[in-house]
Amino acid sequence: MIYLDNSATTKPYPEVLHVYQQVSERFFGNPSSLHQIGIDASRLLNETRKQILHCTGFKQYEIIFTSGATEANNIAIKGAALAKMNRGKHIVTTEIEHPSVTESFEQLRTLFGFDISYIPVDEQGHIDMTHLKEILRPDTVLVSIMHVNNETGAIQPIEAAAAIIREYAKNALFHVDAVQGLGKVTMNQQTDIDLLTMSGHKIHGLKGTGALFLKKGTVLAPLITGGGQEFGLRSGTENPAGAVSLAKAVKQSFEHLEQHHHEMLAMKTELQKQLVDIEGVVMNTPLKQSAPHIVNISVPGIQIEVLLHMLEEKGIFVSTTSACSAKKKEPSRVLLAMGKSEEVAKSSLRISLTYGQGPELIPHIITSIARSVKKLKGMR
Ligand code: PMP
Repeated sequence: MIYLDNSATTKPYPEVLHVYQQVSERFFGNPSSLHQIGIDASRLLNETRKQILHCTGFKQYEIIFTSGATEANNIAIKGAALAKMNRGKHIVTTEIEHPSVTESFEQLRTLFGFDISYIPVDEQGHIDMTHLKEILRPDTVLVSIMHVNNETGAIQPIEAAAAIIREYAKNALFHVDAVQGLGKVTMNQQTDIDLLTMSGHKIHGLKGTGALFLKKGTVLAPLITGGGQEFGLRSGTENPAGAVSLAKAVKQSFEHLEQHHHEMLAMKTELQKQLVDIEGVVMNTPLKQSAPHIVNISVPGIQIEVLLHMLEEKGIFVSTTSACSAKKKEPSRVLLAMGKSEEVAKSSLRISLTYGQGPELIPHIITSIARSVKKLKGMR
């Protein structure tokens, strides 16, 4: 099996599974309980926060554990906008965000009357910085820009965007969906970001684990109220085993970040080079400023699901678009935003790598894609 759908999810590290079980057995207490078993669980949870901050280098932040990035994006975006709405109701995001961001923005518009501006992207899928400058206003209260796009792998200029936001929108909080970049692409931890989202299962952690990094002092309106856990921002009994398993995945990813980055980049670069030589293949992932683990191609004129299943028969697992949109069978919003034709946008295939997948796999991947494309084109 050659699993090339690592942007949808990754296989948990054995250490992650092991630690989850250990903590579930040994620290089963409710962290809110006053007795020693509860205190031990609470201490462990707080130590785990510190460990994640230490490993990632985001030392000036608090951590709120969540069930994943969808929840963290919702808490961050709606929580920030609602906390700031007395200062203004203008919010800004890009045309290529994950649905958990886009839908949160849409809900703020329909339920609370927020005014949304969308930052366009160029043909490489990178945001247009001049446009960002032009749309920011004194009443802008939130800007959300993803770090790495989950479909194309395009890396957004987060540091430059932060500087522009601070200059042109002094009242705005800056949120970054860092799901696809964290642990794979380095980010300057000194960048002036207020809220940052991550997910465990994209870095060989467990599904149902994730976190929101919140710069100390940032105020959010809580969406999930109740017992006041997680600094009052995410009520509900905490999941110490999930948190520790997340810390384990973070540690593993960050300890080997450079080595993994080089490994994946070498493989991705070679794949990109060979894929464009296949007749009928269009490359959607930019050669520059793109993550080391994502290659997105289109094969206009064929039914892309058929290609996906032909590859599956050869033991190669890829996806047609992002996992969250795959079942909708609509053309990719991200590719349309890049100015690609409808035909290109509805025939895209995403190959997403992880660490330890060596270059010896390349000939089989390329031959399988080339043969299948040729066959499908011939049948047409
Ligand atoms: N943002 C991005 C960029 C993603 O790729 C994903 C996962 N598809 C999410 C958010 C949502 O993450 P989760 O599955 O943890 O809810």
